[in-house]
Amino acid sequence: MSKKYVYKFGGGIADGTAKMKNLLGGKGANLAEMAGLGIPVPPGFTITTEMCTVYYKMDRNYPSELYDQVEEGIDHIEKVMGKKFNDPENPLLISVRSGARVSMPGMMDTVLNLGLNDTTIQGLIKTSGNERFAWDSYRRFVQMYGDVVMGLKPERKEEEDPFEVILHEKKVAVGAKYDTDLTTGDLKDLVSKFKAMIKERKGQDFPEDPAEQLWGSINAVFGSWMGARAITYRKLNNIPEDWGTAVNVQAMVFGNMGDDSATGVAFTRDPATGNNRFYGEYLVNAQGEDVVAGIRTPQPINDASITGPGQVTLESLMPKVYKQLESIYQNLEKHYQDMQDIEFTIEKGRLWMLQTRNGKRTVQAALKIAVDMVEEGLIDKKTAILRITPDQLDQLLHPMFDPADKKKANKLGKGLPASPGAATGKVVFHADDAVEWAEKGEKVILVRIETSPEDIGGMNAAEGILTARGGRTSHAAVVARGMGKCCVAGCADIAIDYAKNQFAAAGQVIKAGDYISIDGTSGEVFKDRIKTIPPQITGYFGTLMSWADSFRKMKVRANADIPSDAKKAVEMGAEGIGLCRTEHMFFEGDRITAVREMILAGDEAGRRKALAKLEPIQKEDFVGIFKAMGDRPVTIRLLDPPLHEFLPNEPAQQKEVADDLGVSPELIKEKVEALHELNPMLGFRGCRLGLIFPEISEMQVRAIFSATVECHRNGLKVVPEVMIPLVGTVKEFTVLRDITVAAADEIMKSSGVKFDYLVGTMIEIPRAALIADQIAAEAQFFSFGTNDMTQMAFGYSRDDAGKFLGFYLEKGILPSDPFQTLDQEGVGQLVQMGIERGRSARPNLKVGICGEHGGDPASVEFCHRVGMDYVSCSPFRVPLARLAAAQAALRGEVGEYTTA
Ligand code: PEP
Ligand code: MG
Repeated sequence: MSKKYVYKFGGGIADGTAKMKNLLGGKGANLAEMAGLGIPVPPGFTITTEMCTVYYKMDRNYPSELYDQVEEGIDHIEKVMGKKFNDPENPLLISVRSGARVSMPGMMDTVLNLGLNDTTIQGLIKTSGNERFAWDSYRRFVQMYGDVVMGLKPERKEEEDPFEVILHEKKVAVGAKYDTDLTTGDLKDLVSKFKAMIKERKGQDFPEDPAEQLWGSINAVFGSWMGARAITYRKLNNIPEDWGTAVNVQAMVFGNMGDDSATGVAFTRDPATGNNRFYGEYLVNAQGEDVVAGIRTPQPINDASITGPGQVTLESLMPKVYKQLESIYQNLEKHYQDMQDIEFTIEKGRLWMLQTRNGKRTVQAALKIAVDMVEEGLIDKKTAILRITPDQLDQLLHPMFDPADKKKANKLGKGLPASPGAATGKVVFHADDAVEWAEKGEKVILVRIETSPEDIGGMNAAEGILTARGGRTSHAAVVARGMGKCCVAGCADIAIDYAKNQFAAAGQVIKAGDYISIDGTSGEVFKDRIKTIPPQITGYFGTLMSWADSFRKMKVRANADIPSDAKKAVEMGAEGIGLCRTEHMFFEGDRITAVREMILAGDEAGRRKALAKLEPIQKEDFVGIFKAMGDRPVTIRLLDPPLHEFLPNEPAQQKEVADDLGVSPELIKEKVEALHELNPMLGFRGCRLGLIFPEISEMQVRAIFSATVECHRNGLKVVPEVMIPLVGTVKEFTVLRDITVAAADEIMKSSGVKFDYLVGTMIEIPRAALIADQIAAEAQFFSFGTNDMTQMAFGYSRDDAGKFLGFYLEKGILPSDPFQTLDQEGVGQLVQMGIERGRSARPNLKVGICGEHGGDPASVEFCHRVGMDYVSCSPFRVPLARLAAAQAALRGEVGEYTTA
């Protein structure tokens, strides 16, 4: 038997199920599932994602069995619909759409009304009894086919869509304001003008044969998987190329057959807030893309969806259909146990469901829906935790406007609150400009009449997005929510003039480069900059995080160097400090002067003199951090960076420092030259500094222990963890450990206060991982410095890798940036070996990670798998790490890790 590439659905048949997303794509799998549930879906078939891969392997050709299977699929549709392809009396019309495993809104191509030609148009006129509708469908089909299949779609922003040009000319010539003002004769004329333009531009005729139309469209959909838009989207969302897209071929149903027809999209719960209310938009006498494209502003489906006065709900207009829709949505939500994003069409009063999928939502909505569904008994806590993507939590940390500052602001208008948050930036009107300006370090707000998939790169580069047209399900709104970007959509108060690069609002003119501020939570648009404040985290977030905390096995600490960061870390739920980089304390105020004095000193005595000035300041720093952390553990790392980082390179600054210290500028210059290294991150730094200049380490550990004594005297029983950086040999560790122990003994003796402390090490040099058993025999804890370990395992300098990493990622030489997400296959082996060997010598060895990877969800899962006790990351990533750690534990329970 030949391989099955085509799966049928509808009319009582469902070859596939929702579980087959990888093979059938999200859309195809869900259509099959809906058909299986007995929900009215137009019949059709799905060509598998596997075929997409085969198509590219065969140099854009198909195996012969596909042709037979597609023919059978068409037979199936014909039977269910009681219509025939290419039938001049009662023609079957179909749609051809893409459908990848995950939704890629608007990224790939679609062809509608396929099957129309100069003969079948007569059949459609007869069966619909609506000549204008038939010609409008034909006009749309020729335009879409020309754009998508024959390649006439504009590629650059300056280019115009040739079909839109002809359409516009026609409207001007006949004095039509809207497309709906065009007469049957106008539409007929448009079809022939479109065809003539195709012939002129492409040198070939528009194909009349529906079979040719069908294969052209299938090719175009598979082809769009490798289109520029789809590639950009895949890159931004880490979607592998080899997933491919499926192609869905399905009977057309029409929402533009008159006033008893409509089309709409809806969410089973509010995608912005998560409120448990059916929420959506529809347009009477329209086709699906009219709603999503945001060209006409849609109407609310029910009272709960009303956004302004004078709107007409579907519930009041077609109460019976609305009731049916309501029972279907309840059914679907119960069945899928998740919020659904549905598309429907009403053809002459008959409801058809076109699509259902798990709806994209803001993180606020995701949290509320997850918690509500647990309370409703629809899902359990574990499912709720696994539903939230850790990266999404970043969105929660987005700022909001300072209410006092906002009160004083100059309001330009109000649109729909499409994606929450607040953003301030310079106005740009084109996606390319957004990218260009952002690359120069500008913060920009992308202002468009409406956005389209071509704008995706610019939307990503912008701080926020403002559109003049379109609803909360328009492209701008859906994409911005997915990106966690603030967006105000459909702001009719602004009049955009692309030619003049400006918009007018509230009697004022805002030009490209002027500042505006937008509030995606209220929909307001303001002139100038408004101060922002960080968001408050409470409510559903707190509930879900507390559930997450109850399931995770690893602790989560933060990397924090100063008391204010430590406080933030505790607020975010950090259970300790995993890395306090002491050098970060050295830059402020008069400390830097003392540090420089120490570096410039010609001998040990000079250094000690300077260090004596630093010691009390360091001590106070530690007291501040200990206090902020209460009884939570704090790991303090001794000085790590190369010393040249503390001296200026510019002659003018060197002169200033020289004046400050009362030395000659030449001395500074000489010192800078003496400290110069070819690759300083592999040079005179880390424990090497403390070994060559033990007085530096002595000062630091004395400061740590005197701070400990002070805290003990005040009733806070701090147990400091002293961490030695960049250790590669046992001796490097033991020498500095002995200095630490001696300082502790001395301070305990002189103060009469007894305290506990630990001395451990960073494991960041590959050699340290290899001899981890020997090191663990001496060290009381390990913290993996995966930043340096990545640098050394790959041989990529941390400072310079940017020069080629972009290329590596683009060409697929590396799957991801190893400085961002841990290279589990390589560096991961070193980590795993380090833990195993370390624990072989000291079974209860405490192990953590403090490289950037400690805040990366996939790396956190790895850390759980290899048995770390904690991860440590920047304070703002702590919630994300807590959630990722819980998810890792839950996935581990069922052996379903996301990374092997
Ligand atoms: C590391 O190397 O991973 C680390 C945490 O230390 P730093 O980034 O300060 O070198
Ligand atoms: Mg390091």
